[in-house]
Amino acid sequence: NHDQDVLTAARNWRLDPRELHAPSKVIEEVFASDVLTLDALRQRLSRPVFKSLQATLERGAVLDPSIADTVALAMKTWAMEKGATHYTHWFQPLTGATAEKHDSFVSPTDEGGAIATFSGKELIQAEPDASSFPSGGLRATFEARGYTAWDPSSPAFIMRHANGATLCIPTAFASWTGEALDLKTPLLRSIEALNQAVTPALKLFGTKANRVGSTLGAEQEYFLIAEEYYYRRPDLAMSGRTLFGAKPPRGQELEDHYFGAIPDRVLSFMTDAEHQMYALGIPVKTRHNEVAPGQFEIAPIFEQSNIAADHQQLVMQVLRNTARKYGLVALLHEKPFAGVNGSGKHCNWSMSTDAGDNLLEPGDTPHENIQFLFFCAAVIKAVDEHQDLLRVSVASASNDHRLGANEAPPAIISIFLGSELTDILDRVESGEGGRGTEAGVLGLGTSVLPPLPRHAGDRNRTSPFAFTGNKFEFRAAGSSQSISMPITVLNTIVADAVQQLTAELQAKLDGGQSLEDAVGDIIKATYTKHKRIVFNGDGYSEAWHIEAEQERGLLNLRTTLDAIPHLSSAKNVALFEKFGVLSEREVKAREEIMYDIYFKTVNIEGETTEYIAQTMLLPATINYLRDLSSVQVGRAAQALTQEVTALTDELYDALQDLRAQNAATGGEEIHEKAHHMRDHVLPAMQAVRAAADRLERVVSDAHWPLPSYRQLLFMK
Ligand code: ADP
Ligand code: MG
Repeated sequence: NHDQDVLTAARNWRLDPRELHAPSKVIEEVFASDVLTLDALRQRLSRPVFKSLQATLERGAVLDPSIADTVALAMKTWAMEKGATHYTHWFQPLTGATAEKHDSFVSPTDEGGAIATFSGKELIQAEPDASSFPSGGLRATFEARGYTAWDPSSPAFIMRHANGATLCIPTAFASWTGEALDLKTPLLRSIEALNQAVTPALKLFGTKANRVGSTLGAEQEYFLIAEEYYYRRPDLAMSGRTLFGAKPPRGQELEDHYFGAIPDRVLSFMTDAEHQMYALGIPVKTRHNEVAPGQFEIAPIFEQSNIAADHQQLVMQVLRNTARKYGLVALLHEKPFAGVNGSGKHCNWSMSTDAGDNLLEPGDTPHENIQFLFFCAAVIKAVDEHQDLLRVSVASASNDHRLGANEAPPAIISIFLGSELTDILDRVESGEGGRGTEAGVLGLGTSVLPPLPRHAGDRNRTSPFAFTGNKFEFRAAGSSQSISMPITVLNTIVADAVQQLTAELQAKLDGGQSLEDAVGDIIKATYTKHKRIVFNGDGYSEAWHIEAEQERGLLNLRTTLDAIPHLSSAKNVALFEKFGVLSEREVKAREEIMYDIYFKTVNIEGETTEYIAQTMLLPATINYLRDLSSVQVGRAAQALTQEVTALTDELYDALQDLRAQNAATGGEEIHEKAHHMRDHVLPAMQAVRAAADRLERVVSDAHWPLPSYRQLLFMK
């Protein structure tokens, strides 16, 4: 039948399962074997060339054009030895995905043959015909030129596929006028902003550091479903989430899946995916079952955030690709299934020096601890002052189904500090100092400061932003999104807070105050001013929503469209411009693109809902009714006919409304169209789904055309 054709087509390209050999090599042998590391380059370049390149890599010096050809040749040779036939500038456009346009190494010769070429020019810069990437008006299509430029801070790598390999060169993507058209460039700029702000602060504490950067470990949640079902669900294929589906008799209530034994097929998939990630130099560390049936998580060890951002994109790509080899499909959508947990991407964030000192690690000495508390205070201030930016940085149509849905952090941004740290800050604030001892100067810098807890044990899963012992964990990020924007925002807002507090500290020191007293005063004042953002209770509770909004005056930006306008508020544009992270035009462009993506996402869902209801579900129920009508006897047939008829009419009516809403636009401007989607299309879709889901529970299984949640979620 028709379905069978689709499945055969989808499966045809697959490798013989016997070729799915178990990865046998030890990790040390495999790790980063497909990455062009500094060491690999050193071996292939002369000393002066390598030195020159190293200056570019380590100190951000401009690449000397005279060595570009030599470096390109070394890269090409390395890549071809690894089996690569093509190269691509690999970049992260504003879609949130990655982009690649492959060029072959092969060039024709005058003699009619072909040789492999790859010049310095091709390495440094390329001009993909990239007119179809979103630019938010930064690039009119008539001057469609966008160019990609090598980002030497991120190593090149090999991406493998079933019968070949491609050299991927991480690049930034910009308009001809130099405006960033990607997510990577602002991230790099924000790391520099953080460096510029934090390094001077460390000087005042007498801590040595040449550079400071942010570190990031991102935990990725995802679902796995059987490929067979995926192709029978047009909603999954079109929109990444199920737009229909009655709640199965069993959901996640037994809590038997979380951390449970991993099924063999899934474990084989994970092992294969991890093996590829190791080759790409991604330090994957943990894997486990998540809360919902069919849900899993993978997490690497943290890295410098720009590298982590690249690696995170690769993690998603490898998961998606590898699942197919095992007859599975990896769903990275934030809310693929109603009624069970959605998927997030917890962003564990900290700051560290080039010597590897974690600035959010409570220390053993009072001196280390006042520095630690100083940076904690800066983070508290940053998050309170820029709740709006953090919220926007994770806003999307798909994440709207998750945030505030009583299974994920609320849309209200607050900080969980844990009882120990809160207790210490409370005592600093009250001037009480150390526990049960005569307080010294605010208990800081004296032996009366109680030892700070290392890696506080208590956990609060309901907080969007939690201190977890030696880092903060931003949990509102969505499973399918790039981590670049959230981290760009975090770096920038913390840079701003640190810079302000450092200026205050400097002034106090100049005024003759001791470091301990001055820092104590600053922590106290900052905490007093911003502690409304600290909340250690249950973020899911209704009481918190009321308290947060009404008593504390915290923002509750429920949906993406509530959040977007904050991106370009005067305060936020000023902040981004001050640190050179985004210009006003770049901010406005991003705002426009967010509206556009929101509109398109919901529009596709609305059309898909209509299509499925109209062409699959209505015909199915009508067929069922026809079959029922051939049964002349018995109360069951009669009752069923009545029930199904009533629900079918309900579905039909709801569908008429959805068709009308799909046909309407709401206005000409993109934000008007987006609001039409949120306020009219989404509710109309919901009404269609409600009727359809009830029908699913009464129509015969043999007639219902969509695989059920029961089938989708309980594949092993
Ligand atoms: P969970 O939150 O599920 O308990 P873990 O505590 O094991 O997970 O760690 C979560 C992530 O935090 C890991 O990716 C880990 O590498 C990362 N992490 C640990 N220390 C830091 C740090 N200093 N900066 C950024 N990320 C970190
Ligand atoms: Mg976590």
